Amino acid sequence: FTSEELVKDTFKTINAIDGKVEAFLTLNEEEALQQAKAADEKGYSEIVSLQGLPIGIKDNIVTKDLTTTAASRMLEGFNPIYDATVMEKLKAEGAVNIGKLNMDEFAMGGSTETSYYKKTKNPWDLTKVPGGSSGGSAAAVASGELLASLGSDTGGSIRQPASFTGVVGMKPTYGRVSRYGLIAFASSLDQIGPFTRNVKDNALVLEAISGYDTHDSTSVNKPVPAYHQGLTGDIKGMKIGLPKEYFGEGVDEEVQKAVLKAAEQYRQMGAIVEEVSLPHSKFGIPAYYIIASSEASSNLQRFDGIRYGHRTENAETLEELFVNSRSEGFGMEVKRRIMLGTFSLSSGYYDAYFKKAGQVRTLIKQDFAKVFADYDLILAPVTTSTAFGLGEKNDDPISMYMSDLLTVPVNLAGLPGISVPAGFSSEGLPIGIQLIGNYFQEQTIYQAAYAFE
Ligand code: GLN
Repeated sequence: FTSEELVKDTFKTINAIDGKVEAFLTLNEEEALQQAKAADEKGYSEIVSLQGLPIGIKDNIVTKDLTTTAASRMLEGFNPIYDATVMEKLKAEGAVNIGKLNMDEFAMGGSTETSYYKKTKNPWDLTKVPGGSSGGSAAAVASGELLASLGSDTGGSIRQPASFTGVVGMKPTYGRVSRYGLIAFASSLDQIGPFTRNVKDNALVLEAISGYDTHDSTSVNKPVPAYHQGLTGDIKGMKIGLPKEYFGEGVDEEVQKAVLKAAEQYRQMGAIVEEVSLPHSKFGIPAYYIIASSEASSNLQRFDGIRYGHRTENAETLEELFVNSRSEGFGMEVKRRIMLGTFSLSSGYYDAYFKKAGQVRTLIKQDFAKVFADYDLILAPVTTSTAFGLGEKNDDPISMYMSDLLTVPVNLAGLPGISVPAGFSSEGLPIGIQLIGNYFQEQTIYQAAYAFE
């Protein structure tokens, strides 16, 4: 069939089910159909890898002339004047942008409930959250609306929703994918990555969006392997570490069991699976929330009511213009992070908080380096539980933060990590396993993920 048929069909599906799932914030119907027709005219090509493929984009990735809000009132109706680098790359590969996907406001959260616009539901159980912050991107793939989407992962926001909704979600090595045009949350942690239903598609999309970009000084100039090509399913002799600290208290038994069962499957496929230790990961949550909030407090200064987005009607002085625009434009969680970050960066507290968090970050990095001296991959749970109920953790930010325990160490170290579906809980909710690789070893991760699925 043609791309036009595929894209029309995609919008039909979205019209039929998005009223329930609420994954989308903005649809790009007119332009998508034009892109599809253009793709059909060019015909099949072996050079252009995503020709005519419908794909959805998290709403913190800027899209030229298409409303981009980061799910904040602050950016209501904001139409960017340029495309993020990942968008340019997707377009060059022939992909068709179907629309923008819901998320936690400025990617701060783990349930997609901090969005100013709507609450996305978990397609497996509409009373549960899809996870977050890339909840819309995950739900759209899990519900069958899309084959692929992009999300961003600062402390788990691709892997956790992928795990909660039973899809494949990859957070690449820091620097693998350009952040140019990604609305910054915590610049030293943020990374864009793909959601798909299977490993091969994921590899294909990552291949398309990866690579060096002069617009992002933290992007790394290293050739991009043809990730989807080396997938044989042969993992004989691969050395996999099981970090004992990731199977402790606070991690649901059913989740632990699913990961241990996966470990057994890997052994049967010929891998060597042994216990390893990541002793400083338990300090990941406090270190992450100090570093991420500090960087956010700096990054979000640009939303001043003058340059972008929401401007108050209610100001006599310049000071009031700043204060009231920000008070009206930002939601509770964003304000909480700005206050936490401003506090930990302030001169009297810098040494005790921000500097200390940086030291913990180094220790976490060193733990991983020690393990990767002897092992190819780390296998661990992604989340401490399966998807929780809508509203369940809303009034309890600490318990929401604690649920990021098993994902934030990867971001603090800058390593790549994936979530791959590994069955269901007794309640019928998806469980994911996390595979963590050494720097730029996405290929090894995909190989092991492919062998497992
Ligand atoms: N849940 C984490 C947070 O709220 C991670 C968010 C993310 O990765 N964008 O900061």
